[in-house]
Amino acid sequence: MTDLFSKFDALIGEREALLSHGVRDPYALVMESVKSPTVAMCNGKETILLGTYNYMGMTFDPDVLDAGKTALDNFGSGTTGSRVLNGTYAGHRDCEEALKEFYGMDHAMVFSTGYQANLGIISTMAGKEDYIILDIDSHASIYDGCSLGNAQIVAFRHNDVEALEKRLKRLPPEAGKLVVLEGVYSMLGDIAPLKEMVAISKAAGAMVLVDEAHSMGFIGQNGRGVAEAAGVMDDVDFIIGTFSKSVGTVGGFCVSNHPKFEVLRLVCRPYVFTASLPPSVVATAATSIRKLMHAGNKRAHLWENSKRLHQGLRDLGFQLGTPEAQSGIIAVIMTDMLKGAQMWEALLDRGLYVNLARPPATPAGMTLLRCSLCAEHSSEQVTQILGIFEAAGKDVGVI
Ligand code: PMP
Repeated sequence: MTDLFSKFDALIGEREALLSHGVRDPYALVMESVKSPTVAMCNGKETILLGTYNYMGMTFDPDVLDAGKTALDNFGSGTTGSRVLNGTYAGHRDCEEALKEFYGMDHAMVFSTGYQANLGIISTMAGKEDYIILDIDSHASIYDGCSLGNAQIVAFRHNDVEALEKRLKRLPPEAGKLVVLEGVYSMLGDIAPLKEMVAISKAAGAMVLVDEAHSMGFIGQNGRGVAEAAGVMDDVDFIIGTFSKSVGTVGGFCVSNHPKFEVLRLVCRPYVFTASLPPSVVATAATSIRKLMHAGNKRAHLWENSKRLHQGLRDLGFQLGTPEAQSGIIAVIMTDMLKGAQMWEALLDRGLYVNLARPPATPAGMTLLRCSLCAEHSSEQVTQILGIFEAAGKDVGVI
């Protein structure tokens, strides 16, 4: 018998080698209790959360919590069914209405996760004779959407406008084309040059999908994302998003103005062949989305936090993923996995949680300490965070 686990031996070995240095497992942390969007108890210690993607801090919003509790009481704990059978409740429809209001678009489809939204829309829209043109640093759910479908895949260099144009020019003019972009790239926190890329894609006759997972609620005047900030909302065919970041719960969606969009409810397998979200989840999502439409002050405070943390970390001598704060993510680049894990642990021991990110999720084999800010972080917390980074960085020998 061939042990099918043998393909993971290298990874198992790498993990054992890391843990043999005495560092704690960075992928086995437990949040023992959660006090607010920015504070939890970890290893019995009060810990500032700086790695949760909870950008707008909606997870403890009183209106959001009330909506969830009411839906739980009135509709029960789950739908036990697909959206196309018994799994569409009034709350799912209302959540789709909230998304249409938020984006000012004609159609909205809610999926059980953002991962499934990418899987479903990409694999269903791009068929056998079509081409998907995507940024090489695209999220795993985009790549998996490509794998699930039958289209030809063409990748271009990260955020490189000319590379996109060259690839598009080489494709047969009459072929169906879907260009897949992200507003914010979650590993380094950099944004896409959407104005140029969308114009080039449209000129080449391609449809455009933008994943705004990390920009919804925060970037753009109304929080619609990088496409709004770049003034290209009308030229984007599909916006994909998630409820697991700014919205503060779980779920995914696609919004579009295409007149034939609704047919996707019948043909998109990751929508049809899975159970719909629990009523409490869609109720919290709808309430949160409607509140995010009027969250200008929170957006301004989050920008302040992000800019201050970026400047502060740079002044301390850390190497960062972007030359200036471009989003709610600040990535601190570590030289290798061991230093990264040691720094991660030194931060945690001092009461600060960040994400440790490593290949293959990261570009160019980088190890990153990824910080994601929250609109509910106070200025005092940002000061504390910088103090903790300084102490840990000196201890580990990173600065
Ligand atoms: N797209 C991007 C760019 C993401 O970063 C993520 C999640 N990290 C997703 C999609 C998937 O979202 P979800 O958590 O809702 O599955």
